[in-house]
Amino acid sequence: MQLLMVLLLALIALILAPALVWLFAAGAVAYGVVIAIGGMLTFTLMLAYVLWPLFKGWRSKRAIDSKIRQANRIFREKEEARIAAREASNTSLDDEDCDTNGARKSCSQCQMEMLMSARRCPSCGHKVGP
Ligand SMILES: [Zn+2]
Repeated sequence: MQLLMVLLLALIALILAPALVWLFAAGAVAYGVVIAIGGMLTFTLMLAYVLWPLFKGWRSKRAIDSKIRQANRIFREKEEARIAAREASNTSLDDEDCDTNGARKSCSQCQMEMLMSARRCPSCGHKVGP
């Protein structure tokens, strides 16, 4: 009802003073700009509201991925150390087969037997003197 009255007044004003049409046009443009800005703000807020959980999920997924990678890396390193230790003990056994002298020493930490030339215990990795 109020809008109708405003429109009616505007119409009367237009009839009385045609030059006022520019004022109304400017008002309409300003109104349109305000609506457009408000719409853009609302749209941005809605977009942020929708995308924020996705972004957070993506971030936590990345954190989990990096944790898994780290765990895998540690596991791989342990596995490699284990394989290296086994190979070292295998070679020492082979050496024992070839080397009848059997010059050996034992680890001060775990009493694992190894070649005299070994610098590290093949079992526990403890550093041993020459
Ligand atoms: Zn040892």
